[in-house]
Amino acid sequence: MASLHALYGGTFDPIHYGHLKTVEALAHEVGLQQVTLLPNNVPPHRPQPEASTAQRVAMVKLAIADRPLFTLDTRELERETPSYTVETLEQLRAERGVEQPLAFIIGQDSLLSLHKWHRWQQLTALCHLLVCQRPGYDRAMPTPELQRWLDRHQTHNVSALHQQPGGLIWLADTPLVPVSATEIRTRRHQGLACDDLLPAAVIDYINQQGLYRP
Ligand code: ATP
Repeated sequence: MASLHALYGGTFDPIHYGHLKTVEALAHEVGLQQVTLLPNNVPPHRPQPEASTAQRVAMVKLAIADRPLFTLDTRELERETPSYTVETLEQLRAERGVEQPLAFIIGQDSLLSLHKWHRWQQLTALCHLLVCQRPGYDRAMPTPELQRWLDRHQTHNVSALHQQPGGLIWLADTPLVPVSATEIRTRRHQGLACDDLLPAAVIDYINQQGLYRP
């Protein structure tokens, strides 16, 4: 059977260590060989990114240049329509076939609001969900019904993630990395340094492009 392939969507405005370090730890925890980053085409439920599409892609490329775990897939940026994760996963499932184990990686904040995503209940029909912890977000779901949904899908068996094509949720024991893109943009607007929050090559690019200026 083909190895478990994981996908990671985000606005990446900019990409930072909350993405990179948590996913590297997750890869170690569950045995991922490859993680494909899928930058969003301005998600419908969120404000417009501050960086342009080309700048977000350039920052992702710089961040992963020396991180062989990651590859980049820009398919969502090539669409005219809003990027719905469920539609991208349907496309990937069609390309990879029904047997291929696929997983979509999210942070705990995204798990707690997953029920607001377009056709969210289809997500586990298409792939596994791998959830990285994020500081400040509850481990319990917001309603008993959503908690029951989580309990029904949660697994503690790593091998099952590799053996089944999808349908399971893994709550990872990844380190808490207290970084968000919002915090980085805010610090930059205030003229504060962001060393240690994102790779130096990305900071250099941000400076060179005059992004997130005060
Ligand atoms: P913003 O602050 O602009 O909302 P963000 O930092 O949350 O952005 P996104 O690119 O929107 O970053 O996030 C993509 C994915 O990364 C989401 O699933 C989110 O939960 C996850 N994520 C982001 N930061 C962290 C973090 N520090 N720890 C764990 N997961 C994270």
